[in-house]
Amino acid sequence: MGNRLSFKLMGYLTLIIVIIMAVSFSWDVREQNKQIREELLEKAQLITSQFLSMRHFIAENQNRINYDTDGHFEFKHLNPAAVGGGVAEIFNEKSSYKIKQTRIDFRDVKNAPDEFEKEVLNKFATEKDLTEYWQETTLNGQRVFRYLYPLEIKTECIDCHGEPKGKIDISGYQKEGYKLGDFGGAISVVLPMNRFLANLQNNIYRDLGFMLLLIGLTLGAIYFIMARMVTNPLTQLRDQTKRFGQGNLEVNTEQINAQGEIKDLTKEFQNMAGQLNELYKNLEQRVAMRTKELAAANKQLEDHHDRLELINAELERSNKMKSQFLATMTHELRTPLTAILAFAEITIVNENLPQQARNNLKDILEQGSGLLRLINNLLDMAKLEAGHEQLRLIMVDMLDVFSTIEATCAPLAERKGIKVIWNIDKDIPMITGDEEKLQRTFLNLVGNAIKFTPEGGEVKVTVENYHNKEVVVKVKDSGIGMGSEQQERIFEMFYQVESSDARRFKGTGLGLALAKEWIDLHGGSITVDSEPGKGSLFTVILPLRSKGEGD
Ligand code: ADP
Repeated sequence: MGNRLSFKLMGYLTLIIVIIMAVSFSWDVREQNKQIREELLEKAQLITSQFLSMRHFIAENQNRINYDTDGHFEFKHLNPAAVGGGVAEIFNEKSSYKIKQTRIDFRDVKNAPDEFEKEVLNKFATEKDLTEYWQETTLNGQRVFRYLYPLEIKTECIDCHGEPKGKIDISGYQKEGYKLGDFGGAISVVLPMNRFLANLQNNIYRDLGFMLLLIGLTLGAIYFIMARMVTNPLTQLRDQTKRFGQGNLEVNTEQINAQGEIKDLTKEFQNMAGQLNELYKNLEQRVAMRTKELAAANKQLEDHHDRLELINAELERSNKMKSQFLATMTHELRTPLTAILAFAEITIVNENLPQQARNNLKDILEQGSGLLRLINNLLDMAKLEAGHEQLRLIMVDMLDVFSTIEATCAPLAERKGIKVIWNIDKDIPMITGDEEKLQRTFLNLVGNAIKFTPEGGEVKVTVENYHNKEVVVKVKDSGIGMGSEQQERIFEMFYQVESSDARRFKGTGLGLALAKEWIDLHGGSITVDSEPGKGSLFTVILPLRSKGEGD
């Protein structure tokens, strides 16, 4: 982390320093270039001015040169142009600078203008305001600074260069016919730039070297200071934090050599680590405690579970035993009971039987039949529980079923003064079902309706054909009814509503349980709708063809 941070910082700093240095460097180079040009111009002007002064002096002293003390004239060929040319020759030999007098229509071939000079001379001739001209250019493969100064025709020039044009002057040349103030030619100076440019290059290299050294030193210093004051302490702090993160909660930031904000940071870290350590210790204790408690609770739960499994197994065993016992017992009970009933029936028809004996036999027959019904119910229940029950399917005529039920229930209803209304559709189709079980189901429903309806009440039985798909049987009474809680339970085995009203009636609580099982087996449904004191309505829906019966 330390290195990454310092490298980043160094990177940015380098960038900033380099940008600043580059700007200052290019500014410096520009300034130096400008200075060189100024210096060159000044030199050219100085040389020209000296040269012109010299020419001026010669012009002024023509008489002294050409007349001897006796007033005798002799042209000495030392006019300004001739002296200028001679001096220039010497000067050009002695220095690296070059000076020259030049003109378009030159007299001496030495003064012939080169291409550049020709151009400038033309410029001077046309632009009267132009008082000097300079330009940087290349001459014979060298960078040079060229300077030209225009010459004006003055009084002293007129003798040799004035009018009339073409007349031979004192030096033997034809006059040019110039007038006073005309443009007459120029002084041309050439200054080689090599030395100046080499100097400039040296300066650039020196500045560059200095700049690089400065950058290196600055960065080195910054890196050193950063490492000492920031990265080293931060790296140490990072290591401590890492160890802390790995679970070593004993932290010691004393030996970290930090200052200022980083010192504060290490202190804060030390504090935080201390507090966390405390917290952790507490937490560990609590976790240990909780784990212990949890283990104990788990053990208890496991014990409960084991016990429950045992109880379950026990329950299953006793349930099986119960079913087996019921099956055996009912079978063992039914055989002798049927025999008793048969004997009683045979005996009762004997006309010589005293009245008392006949009454006893009647009782035996009545109670015995009740007992047989109970036993039959129990046997059926046992069969159902064992999963052995199967329907004996035949085509059943519901009209037959209900006429038998009507005949069976009539005496009972009559005895209680209950009006039974039979509302049976004549077009009830034949259905596939177990006739005996359907009969017992509906007998139980109608029987219950009569049983749980007080004297003088009313029972209504409706049998309807529903779209030739189902038969709907409704048994409605105006009896004691029952609450919604009981309605949910009456189809359970041995369930009988616990109320003072209901307890008055005898029963076993098996009838509805069997009815439901059987209707289910037929693929139908049985439901109850009732309210205490307002009567009950049982609805059975039977499909025309039983479930499981192939088409
Ligand atoms: P049982 O009639 O032999 O007791 P059931 O299974 O036929 O057994 O009926 C279970 C219980 O449902 C009855 O004991 C009675 O409390 C209640 N019950 C059944 N039919 C009616 C009815 N029509 N009106 C009121 N209660 C009824």
